[in-house]
Amino acid sequence: MTATRTIVVAGAGIGGLTAALALAANGFRVIVLEKAERLAEAGAGVQLSPNASRVLVDLGLADQLAPLALAPDAVTVMSARSGEALVRLPLGAQAAERAGAPYWVIHRGDLQGTLVAHVRANPAIELRLGCVVESFADQAHGTTVVYRHRGERGEMQAQALIGADGIWSAVRRQLFPQLQPRFSGLIAWRGTVDVSALPPGFALGGVQLWMGPQAHLVVYPISGGRLINLVAIVPGDWQREGWSAPGEPRELRDRFAAAGWAAPARLLIDTVESWKTWALLAMPDGGAWTSGATALLGDSAHGMLPFAAQGAGMAIEDAAVLARCLGDAGNDMLAMPEALQRYANARRNRVARVQRLARQNGRIYHLTGPLALARDVAMRALGGERLLARQAWIYDWKP
Ligand SMILES: Cc1cc2nc3c(=O)[nH]c(=O)nc-3n(C[C@H](O)[C@H](O)[C@H](O)COP(=O)(O)OP(=O)(O)OC[C@H]3O[C@@H](n4cnc5c(N)ncnc54)[C@H](O)[C@@H]3O)c2cc1C
Repeated sequence: MTATRTIVVAGAGIGGLTAALALAANGFRVIVLEKAERLAEAGAGVQLSPNASRVLVDLGLADQLAPLALAPDAVTVMSARSGEALVRLPLGAQAAERAGAPYWVIHRGDLQGTLVAHVRANPAIELRLGCVVESFADQAHGTTVVYRHRGERGEMQAQALIGADGIWSAVRRQLFPQLQPRFSGLIAWRGTVDVSALPPGFALGGVQLWMGPQAHLVVYPISGGRLINLVAIVPGDWQREGWSAPGEPRELRDRFAAAGWAAPARLLIDTVESWKTWALLAMPDGGAWTSGATALLGDSAHGMLPFAAQGAGMAIEDAAVLARCLGDAGNDMLAMPEALQRYANARRNRVARVQRLARQNGRIYHLTGPLALARDVAMRALGGERLLARQAWIYDWKP
C-alpha cells in the first residue's frame, strides 16, 4: 500500500527544507530524510533576491528572517585594477517595493536554522537525520524509498520521492546515471571577516562585486553586519572527492597581490583567517528532471555556477512550483507522474536561462586586457538602473 498524500524528500538543504514547507502548506504529509547526523551550514552567506525571498515570505518566514537578514542599499561593481566603483545598482527600499519583496543577504546558518525551526514546528513534516537515501523503486501507485539509518536498512512508501540531495545526488544517479556534474576549472574560496578586525570607518555600503583579471570577489555583510562574507573565484585544479576543503590564506593573498588588486580588496582578503575552498561544478543545461513518481529539485537537477547568485534562489522557486503542481494532483495517485512532469516543464526553460546567464557573467567578470577596459566603459555608460532592469526577469518572478 502506498501512503496517500505522503511525499518523501531526500535532503534537508535549502531546497529540501523549503520544499517540505511548501508541500505541507499544500496539504501533504512530508518525510525529509537527511544523511547528515547534524545540520550545520558552513560559515558563509547567501544572497536572496526578491524572486526567492517572496517564496519564503509567502511561507510565513518573514518575521524570523527579516531580523537576521540585511537588505543592502546597492550592489556596487568595483574595478580590481583602480579600486574605483564602476557602477552602482540600487536595491534598497524602492527596489524592494517595485519587486514586491526584499533583496536579502543572510548567513547560511541563519537561513537554514529558520527553515529547520519551521519544519520541526510543523506537525505535517517529519525530519529524520542520519538517513541516507540509497535507492527507490516505482510501484503501480507511488514509490518505495530505500534508506539506511546507522547501518540499518529501512523502506518507506510514498506518493512521490523528491531528490533534493545536492549536486552529488544519489536519486539522480539512479534516475539518470548519464547526467553528471562537470568541473568548471574554477575554485570558490569562502571566508568571513569580523568587522571589528578592520580599520575604524571601513564601510562596504551593501554588496560589492570586484572584477579582476581571471578572478572576481564578492563581498557583503551578514550576521547583522557583524561579519563580512567573502567569496573569491579563481582558476584552479580539483583532485579531491567532494567539494569543500581548507584553503591556505597565503596562497590567495599572494595571488591577489601579484595580480595588482587594489588595496581595499586586498585588505579584506588579508584579514580572513580561515578559508574554505569549493570546486565549482555545474550540471549540463536542460537535462531531465523527472521519471515516474520521482523528481529532482535544486542542485541535484541544475547545480549551476554561482555567478548569478541564483542557485539557492532557483531551488526555492522549484519548491514553490513543485508544491503547486502536486497540490493540483491531490489524492489522485495516477496523476502524480504527470504533475511532476508539469513541474519540470514549468521550470526547465527559466532555470536553463539562469544557468546560461551565470556562465556568461563569469566570462565577463574575468576578462583581461583591452576587453576588460571595454567592459568597464560599457558598464559605466549603461549605468546601475539599466543594469538592474536587466535582472527584472529574474527578480520579478512570482510563483
Ligand atoms: C561559492 C558559492 C556561493 C553561492 N552563493 C549563492 C547566492 O548568493 N545565492 C544563491 O541563491 N545561491 C548561491 N549559491 C548556490 C547555493 O548554495 C546552492 O544552489 C544551494 O545551496 C543548493 O541547495 P540544495 O538544497 O539543492 O542542495 P544542498 O544544499 O547541497 O543540500 C543537499 C542536502 O542533501 C543531503 N544529502 C545528500 N545526499 C543524500 C542522500 N543520499 N540521502 C539523504 N540526504 C542526502 C546533503 O547532506 C544536504 O544536506 C552559491 C554556491 C556557491 C558554491
